[in-house]
Amino acid sequence: MNEKTNLKSLSYRELVGKLRDMGEKPYRATQIFNWIWKKGETDIMRFSDIKKSLRGQLNEMFFVPKLVEKEGVASSDGSVKFIFELPDGNEIESVFIPDRDRRTVCVSTQVGCPIGCKFCATGLLLGYKRNLEAWEIVEQVLRISLALGVRISNVVYMGMGEPFLNYDAVVASAELLNSDHALNIGARKITISTVGIIPGIYRLSAHPKQFKLAISLHSAIQEKREEIVPIARRYPLKELKKAIFAYYHAKKRFITFEYVLLPGFNDSDEDIEAIDRFLKGLPSKINIIPFNPFPGARFRAPTEEEIACFHTKLLTLPYTVTLRRSKGQDVRAACGQLALLREGKVDVKPLMKGHDL
Ligand code: SAH
Ligand code: SF4
Repeated sequence: MNEKTNLKSLSYRELVGKLRDMGEKPYRATQIFNWIWKKGETDIMRFSDIKKSLRGQLNEMFFVPKLVEKEGVASSDGSVKFIFELPDGNEIESVFIPDRDRRTVCVSTQVGCPIGCKFCATGLLLGYKRNLEAWEIVEQVLRISLALGVRISNVVYMGMGEPFLNYDAVVASAELLNSDHALNIGARKITISTVGIIPGIYRLSAHPKQFKLAISLHSAIQEKREEIVPIARRYPLKELKKAIFAYYHAKKRFITFEYVLLPGFNDSDEDIEAIDRFLKGLPSKINIIPFNPFPGARFRAPTEEEIACFHTKLLTLPYTVTLRRSKGQDVRAACGQLALLREGKVDVKPLMKGHDL
């Protein structure tokens, strides 16, 4: 049987090794990476700067898959959401977010998510199908860059899925995004967001690259956190704090905490005191994300007043505080929702309202 290797599953080094076995020089790997990871070419016979005989040989051994763009939805603020079809027919979403001098892509890491946070449409409504492979993560950035004709400066792992439940593929994808042979995006411009999978935090602490870490906190009170983030029972705040401090000591980098504002649930003075206690001694940034409702959700969106009130109170703490606006440009708030629109599982009208889609 003809078992071809996926050329996009190889790191630069692995490809150099394979070429060496074929008696070829390392610069061939640079040429090939240029075709597949910069130009997005999928037909090996069109690698025109490589001699025909070698192209033929490569074509016998390898294949080059791609993600198929099914739909792009532009929002009035410039962000564009994409739905991609994977080779097995599953679909994922990714978002392009322009912001001043940054051009960010938010990538998915799994088809759905097995965690099931009580405020997240991805986990609750889509369920979980499988992990993405590293190339499927990198492809989201490449295809968006090519479709829009822009160079991507930043990548955030905040789309569908929990990155640290797919650690190896996620880190391999970040390395590829960072490689100057592929997308050449600075390690400090790549942020991985986790719901708090502790082993993943320790593993990333030991990684030589300065990838950024974001933690989805949502409550610094153990019982409350357990109510909305089921995995908090397995990875309690006390242990999470130790892991985050270990990361900070290894990297000496600010950590971003995401906090979905659920009015009447996690915005009291007691919640703010708990945040302060949890973060004490840790240079951090808190990112408030007003809850973005979806049909069947047990929370409502906060009012402008509730957002302003919580924001003002958090600003009294010694941390940087930012506020994410719940509009089309808000990638996090949009987590999982485009896929739902297309799958027709829910009435689209309530989702469209207030989302600028
Ligand atoms: N699984 C990872 C990364 C993907 S979720 C994580 O949880 O960190 C990315 C962010 O979107 C998380 O901070 C999550 O809390 C937020 N989010 C999910 N659903 C949301 C909603 N309905 N409204 C606002 N933010 C939401
Ligand atoms: Fe999964 Fe993150 Fe959604 Fe929780 S918030 S269900 S971890 S994608």
